[in-house]
Amino acid sequence: MSKLLIVGSIAFDAIETPFGKTDKILGGAATFIGLSASQFNVSSAIVSVIGEDLPQEYLDLLSEKNIDLSGVEVVKGGKTFFWSGKYHNDLNSRDTLITELNVLANFNPVVPSNFKDADVVMLGNLHPSTQLSVIQQMEKRPKLIVLDTMNFWMDSELPALLKVIKEIDVITINDEEARQLTGEYSLVKAAAKIQTMGPAYVVIKKGEHGALLFHDEHVFYAPALPLEEVFDPTGAGDTFAGGFTGYLAETGNISFENLKNAVIHGSNLASFCVEKFGTQRLEDLDKQEINQRLLQFKELTQFDIQLQ
Ligand code: AMP
Repeated sequence: MSKLLIVGSIAFDAIETPFGKTDKILGGAATFIGLSASQFNVSSAIVSVIGEDLPQEYLDLLSEKNIDLSGVEVVKGGKTFFWSGKYHNDLNSRDTLITELNVLANFNPVVPSNFKDADVVMLGNLHPSTQLSVIQQMEKRPKLIVLDTMNFWMDSELPALLKVIKEIDVITINDEEARQLTGEYSLVKAAAKIQTMGPAYVVIKKGEHGALLFHDEHVFYAPALPLEEVFDPTGAGDTFAGGFTGYLAETGNISFENLKNAVIHGSNLASFCVEKFGTQRLEDLDKQEINQRLLQFKELTQFDIQLQ
């Protein structure tokens, strides 16, 4: 079975949307990535750090999905990373209210020895030096390294970010961040510029407007499924990344054609994530509903046009 190594935060999140508010619930990029990737036939592990305050039931939830947690460091007396956000009425934009790095501030990731030969590495949104450290610990070059990042690191750690971007194969980034990273308004130009920085593939996420995949002169577009109810978009980007990398690890095929399918799997899983608060919807997802929605994706995008 292929191995997928996931690096990212495990967090307490407190979320406010127009539909309600939560106290501290389970969140974090690695959590969403892991839950999403667990839908595929892969052996996955999370590298992260938590404090002693994270309830055991949260860890059990991840272990029950067969995610190896031996790379999750528990800091004695430490406090787990805490993030709080508030969504605007359109749910497309949000304000970060609180970011308490806590144990994440001094995080030195340690890749478990049995995952140093992972086939696919998913570097969740973290300090770029932490992401680079994970790459450097791998015994052999993974078949595929995917990186997610955000504007925060572009503002504060650009040289370190550019250094890690050089080493990766795929970057997932949202439209505004792609513009910020390159200074290009056109996403086509931005994607071309990012490819000169390192990654051969660029995925630009556009929230409820889907995702674009760029490679050389090729472009592929996947819409987001139009949903009746969007409740909480938190973790949608990470869920996308988990579906994208889980599928690629399972199939072992990293051609452009197969990356298109990976984008669809990522978008499909993300469509579930937003239907409930936090990780709730991902926890009890079954194969049947996933497949049903894949069919909806197909119907949404297929047409048979006759050229004159
Ligand atoms: P997304 O909605 O996909 O952008 O991801 C939201 C998740 O990212 C939340 O569960 C947060 O706990 C986590 N998160 C937010 N800010 C950071 C940060 N600076 N470092 C690591 N994880 C973060």
